[in-house]
Amino acid sequence: MRTRSITSKIPQLRLASGYNIPQVGFGLWKIPPEQTANAVYHAIKAGYRHIDGAYGYKNSVEAGEGIRRAIREGLVSRADLFITSKLWNNYHARRHAIEMAHVETDAWGLDYLDLFLIHFPIAQQYIPLSESRFPSWYLDASRTRVTPRAPVPISETWQVLESLVAPGPEQPSPTTTSSGFLRSLGVSNFNAQLLYDLTSHARVPPSVLQVEHHPYLAQPSLLRAARDLGIQVTAYSTFGPQSFLELDNPRARDVVPLLQAEPVVRAAARLRRTPAQVLLRWCTQRGLVVIPKSVHPDRMAENLDCCSFDLTVEEMDAISSLDRGLRFNDPGMTHGSPLHIF
Ligand code: NAP
Repeated sequence: MRTRSITSKIPQLRLASGYNIPQVGFGLWKIPPEQTANAVYHAIKAGYRHIDGAYGYKNSVEAGEGIRRAIREGLVSRADLFITSKLWNNYHARRHAIEMAHVETDAWGLDYLDLFLIHFPIAQQYIPLSESRFPSWYLDASRTRVTPRAPVPISETWQVLESLVAPGPEQPSPTTTSSGFLRSLGVSNFNAQLLYDLTSHARVPPSVLQVEHHPYLAQPSLLRAARDLGIQVTAYSTFGPQSFLELDNPRARDVVPLLQAEPVVRAAARLRRTPAQVLLRWCTQRGLVVIPKSVHPDRMAENLDCCSFDLTVEEMDAISSLDRGLRFNDPGMTHGSPLHIF
């Protein structure tokens, strides 16, 4: 009963595709495969209806198991859920993108994906799926050999994905097929220039831009560009350094945790909320979708409840003033990689 009431309080935002996306979702990055089915099941039980996965997270099969358990127990039906996955860098070429979209949809055990994103705006050399043990920037586990780039423009990848889109509320039928199994398309880690380029040729418009976004990396002009283009922004890593401590990311080590930042803690005390809820509300109050990750059911519930209170204008501004252009998910520095994307 409680679950139903929190679920119904999560706003649904309309995408360019005509489908709705729940404003709060559940992120799967770095959840170990052996914990993922349970985590997804508990997230759905807590009231989440939007799950954010990716081929690169290597836990889609297990996420699908968690979904099937929730459906079997009558918690939800497939139609209640919004499932996102993403195309990894090695599969941007025509043939490989088609293969990957099918493989990923099958891995979840679903007939369709609600949203499929190009994970990063960079194509790397193809790695056969059977050999794809390191879905990362590297060819080896010791992270010494960076996977070479591949000469595939984003326009090629986008056109391939367009051909896999099913006819939908706002999708123009000449570009979509009745056998399509992707409902909405989007991109991740793109800058404004790439969005302008993409929208100059896209026949199926991008519905979502998913980017790192927190008070240390507010990116107001990128948000404005996306809004002007009718693209919904999803914020990832909304707790800033928190997610990167376990990766021993030096930028995360050397900064005040956002969960302890003064304006965040002050607003949390006034509202009798947690700093995590305040950080999420700072995003949702500005119209962004959030996808916090936690393996703890109590935190899942806490994070989901981030649309039922309001920060004052002064609190919003004080949190925004923490902005210092500090990016944590930067493959150009994280492991000394020479791929300078940002
Ligand atoms: P996040 O959700 O900002 O933070 C997760 C970290 O915060 C974990 O260490 C988690 O620990 C902890 N945490 C969660 N809830 C908490 C709470 N209420 N209080 C205190 N700590 C809490 O980071 P993220 O996983 O990097 O980002 C979220 C999702 O965005 C990902 O899972 C993924 O789906 C997506 N993402 C996408 C990209 C991309 O390139 N498109 C990149 C990164 C992330 P516990 O699990 O122990 O609770």
